[in-house]
Amino acid sequence: MEPNTPAPAASALADLAGALAGGDVTVVDLTAPLSDRTPALVLPEPFSNLEDFSLEEVSAYNEAGPFWKHHNIRTGEHIGTHLDAPVHWATGRNGKNVAQIDPGRLVGRAVVLDFAAEAAAEPDFLIDIPDLLSWQQSHGDFQTGDWLLFRTGWDRYADDRTAFLNADETGSHTPGFTAEAARWLAEETPISGVGVETVGIDAGRGAELDPPFPMHHFLLGADKYGITSLRHLDRLPRRGAVLVVAPLPIVGGTGSPARVLAMVEDA
Ligand code: MN
Repeated sequence: MEPNTPAPAASALADLAGALAGGDVTVVDLTAPLSDRTPALVLPEPFSNLEDFSLEEVSAYNEAGPFWKHHNIRTGEHIGTHLDAPVHWATGRNGKNVAQIDPGRLVGRAVVLDFAAEAAAEPDFLIDIPDLLSWQQSHGDFQTGDWLLFRTGWDRYADDRTAFLNADETGSHTPGFTAEAARWLAEETPISGVGVETVGIDAGRGAELDPPFPMHHFLLGADKYGITSLRHLDRLPRRGAVLVVAPLPIVGGTGSPARVLAMVEDA
């Protein structure tokens, strides 16, 4: 296109911008607020845990900075709503770090699968291949670049660390996926990634599956990505929303807190 060529009157982006400006398309924030109270995964002994998020004041319109306020932030990579990059897992160790992910993979169709009833009845509920095949039969096959978002209703616990992690002496009890479903999603579908409402992309009892933590094992090993601690998935249609996933491009990073937005067309 010549530098001064006006944009065509009709284009997909012009239509989108108009719909956003006119309110026919709205933006839903699927991100949990990030603070020192944001619940994070707690690994048992002897494993090491990440630091929670915190803010450290450097100046606040005072002697340290009379006209400005600013902070240092401290945080583990995998805190709050965040993206898991391939190098996070042993199976993806030769794969991409979070700064290397193709940005085109971070924007795509949002496909919402609702298992809130199953998870309410059984916190250890695991989504299996027949559940996914049945969804495809009703709503169409998963397509290249899709982001599968699994609604379990778990975001209602997101402000209560104890309920969110739901741990007892036998471990954490939160919903997730069977090892077979994880392998199938990673190897048999063209999706970009999977988003969940829980603290991690694997079930609370994922360590007991074979292989352990199969979502991490298979997805990250297949250059697919995970996002956790989503909320407001109930505001999305099963199909038709567009997801924007925005992790920080931390060079060498295994993941990053991410802002996750969905563009939704009013019915
Ligand atoms: Mn993570």
